[in-house]
Amino acid sequence: MAKPKVAFYWCASCGGCEETVVDLNEDLLKVADAVDIVLYPVALDFKRKDIESLGDGEIAVSFINGAVRTEEQEEMVKLLRAKSGLVVAFGSCAHIGGIPGLGNFWTRDTIFQRVYKEVPSVENPGGTTPQEKVAVDIGELTLPEFWDTVKTLDQVIPVDYYLPGCPPPPDLVMNAINAILTGNLPEKGAVLAPDKALCDTCPRNETKPEKISIKEIKRPYEIKIDPEKCFLEQGLICHGPFTRSGCGETCIKANMPCRGCFGPVDGVVDQGAKGLSAIVSILGLEGEERMTEEDVQKLIDGIVDPAGTFYRFSLPASLLRRRRME
Ligand code: SF4
Ligand code: SF4
Repeated sequence: MAKPKVAFYWCASCGGCEETVVDLNEDLLKVADAVDIVLYPVALDFKRKDIESLGDGEIAVSFINGAVRTEEQEEMVKLLRAKSGLVVAFGSCAHIGGIPGLGNFWTRDTIFQRVYKEVPSVENPGGTTPQEKVAVDIGELTLPEFWDTVKTLDQVIPVDYYLPGCPPPPDLVMNAINAILTGNLPEKGAVLAPDKALCDTCPRNETKPEKISIKEIKRPYEIKIDPEKCFLEQGLICHGPFTRSGCGETCIKANMPCRGCFGPVDGVVDQGAKGLSAIVSILGLEGEERMTEEDVQKLIDGIVDPAGTFYRFSLPASLLRRRRME
């Protein structure tokens, strides 16, 4: 019997999600044995025409990582959608926009200005920026259009399942592959990770007091972090209360607060707004002591880059989606 065809593809991403497939270690051999990989740009030399030559729905599942921000990425994900029975948004960037989604605080022009003209390591006396069409001796060269706005995968094509994380951990990837191979899948639209907040599974939860009172927000490099104590209790912003569990508490075990890469639990529409309200509700002084305006300002000043902090992974999926520019 023919093996099910599987595709892996990357859009606007760092490549870490493709690496996590390699991190399956010996399980990768089982996957390679059970399926027929038809696209995997980081490792195998398949071409777009190989996918175009397949029938509609012929690929059992496409795992697509990365946000969508160029014309070429839009074409490829639409092509893979047509050729695939199932599409899984693989990793934070495809799921909720991820780090590339922070580009939605800017526009294409401001990004090009910064990246190609202003950064200290760039020497560009002609002020050249990428052009969609350039005439050269041998003809015309083209580049795909770079959009102003970064989109999540489901803002471009219908998505069947979501595998969260930056990158998704190998055990969740393997569970998802097994579920797909055995047809043992949850309802369409599900996030293939536990529907619990990270705090519920965190080994430091026991040290998290019922009521936390933060007098001063600190950044990890400013203090010697206690490796046992809840980060919030230490004045560090931890996204655990408003982030989905399932990562194996990776950052917490490395003595770093959670930054929110797994996205929100079910039912939360806007992870950043949820986080802002969770953190603001615990800012304050203990007991009856009232805060002065100066205290409040000091606390607010302690949150460096609030928009980037609370929407670090989820801006394109949020209610805001992007900053409004003139
Ligand atoms: S806030 Fe962070 S450190 Fe504290 S219990 Fe939640 S996940 Fe753990
Ligand atoms: S601790 Fe938070 S940021 Fe780190 S891997 Fe887990 S969900 Fe992602």
